[in-house]
Amino acid sequence: MMPAFELFQPSSVDEAIGVLRRYDKESWVLAGGLDSLEWLKNRVEWPKAPYPRAMVSLEGIEELRGIRSGPDGLEIGAMTTLSELAEHPEVVDRYGVLASAAGQVASPQIRNQGTLGGNIAQDSRCWYYRGGFDCYRAGGNTCYADTPTAMNHDHCLLGADRCITVNSSDVAPALIALDARVVIRGPGGEDVVPIERFYIGPGTDITRMNVLEPGMVITRVQVPGAWSGTRSYFEKARHRQSWDFGAVNVAAVARLSGGIIEGIRLAVNGVAPTPLRLTAVEEAVTGSPPDEETATIAGETAIWGARPVHYSDYKVTLLRNLVRRAIRGVAV
Ligand SMILES: Cc1cc2nc3c(=O)[nH]c(=O)nc-3n(C[C@H](O)[C@H](O)[C@H](O)COP(=O)(O)OP(=O)(O)OC[C@H]3O[C@@H](n4cnc5c(N)ncnc54)[C@H](O)[C@@H]3O)c2cc1C
Repeated sequence: MMPAFELFQPSSVDEAIGVLRRYDKESWVLAGGLDSLEWLKNRVEWPKAPYPRAMVSLEGIEELRGIRSGPDGLEIGAMTTLSELAEHPEVVDRYGVLASAAGQVASPQIRNQGTLGGNIAQDSRCWYYRGGFDCYRAGGNTCYADTPTAMNHDHCLLGADRCITVNSSDVAPALIALDARVVIRGPGGEDVVPIERFYIGPGTDITRMNVLEPGMVITRVQVPGAWSGTRSYFEKARHRQSWDFGAVNVAAVARLSGGIIEGIRLAVNGVAPTPLRLTAVEEAVTGSPPDEETATIAGETAIWGARPVHYSDYKVTLLRNLVRRAIRGVAV
């Protein structure tokens, strides 16, 4: 049975924050509801965590919608749907890596309903955690995915700390490559957080995947113009070609001069509890042509330190090859 809750439909962010504050840990921000409704049905966390009595829907808040573009880049409202993002002419034309990432999330129906805020704030998809196991992330003292007989082919290679889940957002690595910032409003005012710092790993807080605390609302995402119009590449490898989460994905933007990589940003997801910017790869390839040799160096650098769990070893090959292809991809 889906447990009962009270639904609030504020028309402004301040009003939403007021309700969220009132119910504090018993409140829940509702955007497109795709992840949230699954949560309610699973009731995964509820044995240990406070139950959300107040659902605060952001649907009626006009200021959270829409994409504005200007000389300084893009301002994308948190309630902008993934379809809007994937099809917006300016995003397609100038920030192709973001349009491509949003356009490869799941199915058209999910992209029509799922929002940018919900995609970047989505929770772990680990089936032990989602399935109600009393794991570390749910407040227990075991990682059920990290046991000898566990089904862990979707789990991580890097950054594990007791919990071995991965972050599954397709949009996050594209935003990292573009140096985006997340604008968060809460009871203490507004904060602008670089997207890399928006995510936190289990070593920092094992119960959440990002810096959001009760009472906080993502209002928009800012994409600076620095990488606008540059060469870009996004690729997502998944188990099924139709609407599936990525096993590993890669996003890259690059600036070339005289056939040499002058500057590059490269990020991946699906391999660690947070999306990862691969700065070692960026440094290794800057100043070189995006040829086969550089691509090989990039791939080998990307997998340095990877420690697969039992069934996730195939992701090492995927990570190496996707990063190689990203280097080749920004050349054309
Ligand atoms: C079948 C299926 C397949 C999927 N496949 C993919 C895939 O291939 N790639 C991929 O990247 N994702 C995938 N997803 C995840 C999907 O993209 C997200 O579930 C969706 O984008 C969430 O958006 P939403 O608007 O429905 O968020 P909700 O479900 O409403 O919210 C998700 C989480 O974000 C929080 N939240 C939402 N908006 C805000 C905000 N503005 N401020 C603060 N907190 C907020 C909510 O409190 C909740 O914790 C899939 C989901 C499903 C159900």
